[in-house]
Amino acid sequence: MLYTCGHKTPDSDSIVGAIAMAYLQEKLGHTTKAVRQGEINPESAYILEKFNLETPELKTSFAGEDIYLVDYNNYTEAPDDLKEANIVGIADHHKLGGLITSNPLDVWIRAVGCSNTIIKEMFDYYEVEIPKDIAGAMMCAILSDTVIFKSPTCTKIDTKVCKELANIAGIEDFKAIGLEMFKVKSQVDGVSSIDLIKRDFKNFDMHGTKVGIGQLEVVDLSIFDDKKDDLLKAMNELKEQEGYHTVLLLLTDIMAMGSQILVATDSIENIQKAWNVEVKDNQFWLDGCLSRKKQVIPFLEPTFK
Ligand code: MG
Ligand code: MG
Ligand code: MG
Repeated sequence: MLYTCGHKTPDSDSIVGAIAMAYLQEKLGHTTKAVRQGEINPESAYILEKFNLETPELKTSFAGEDIYLVDYNNYTEAPDDLKEANIVGIADHHKLGGLITSNPLDVWIRAVGCSNTIIKEMFDYYEVEIPKDIAGAMMCAILSDTVIFKSPTCTKIDTKVCKELANIAGIEDFKAIGLEMFKVKSQVDGVSSIDLIKRDFKNFDMHGTKVGIGQLEVVDLSIFDDKKDDLLKAMNELKEQEGYHTVLLLLTDIMAMGSQILVATDSIENIQKAWNVEVKDNQFWLDGCLSRKKQVIPFLEPTFK
């Protein structure tokens, strides 16, 4: 059995990517199963329902199994026993994260905006047709990762592939679906602060310093007006309980194109230095910031050198 699996705290790229990759590898002769390492977020649930796709099963242990990694290539976001698994391949769009393998493998890593862009190109390369529903979901994953093409991570290849997938799925107004998806993502009422922080949360080892960065992408930041104090309180609790040096939460306004960044840290100097900003009341506005990968990590990481 070949398991296809995205990263911990799965996003739509990880969930849909696992499904698309399982379908492709099955066509290439493997017996496959799409799985996930964590709970489905509301956006992914919306996509799966819209395109009638089955939710991948929860699986967190892979010792002795074959696995195809989708949307990550580091140990922090991998299953804890990945070192005991056989990595058959990787389809990803992140920086290299130091994996070591015991066998030769297929590596499809490119500097594009979404893993599903790469998987679409794999379908083309192997000349396998993409079913309509899977194509629609892959299109949504690209719209999500690229913030409807607005993110600096988005490339011409992503927009081209997204349009091709929309064609296959028979969808004309794909940007409208993108916006609807982000409206689903913007629903934060009735969700606890810690669950919001952890909804799209990544751990980083920055030169020996433990940093956690969450991101919530919404269509209107005012929904957080009466939630910020409680979010900051929960971030500080998380920081103390799990031994972080810094916990950041990006409240990203995809219409205003920028992020209000909430800060819980042992050293405000690192944050101020990273972006040359003044942090007031444990927060600051970063104009134009949509991408954690391109506009946050590369600025923060060097301050811990
Ligand atoms: Mg991802
Ligand atoms: Mg991705
Ligand atoms: Mg994202």
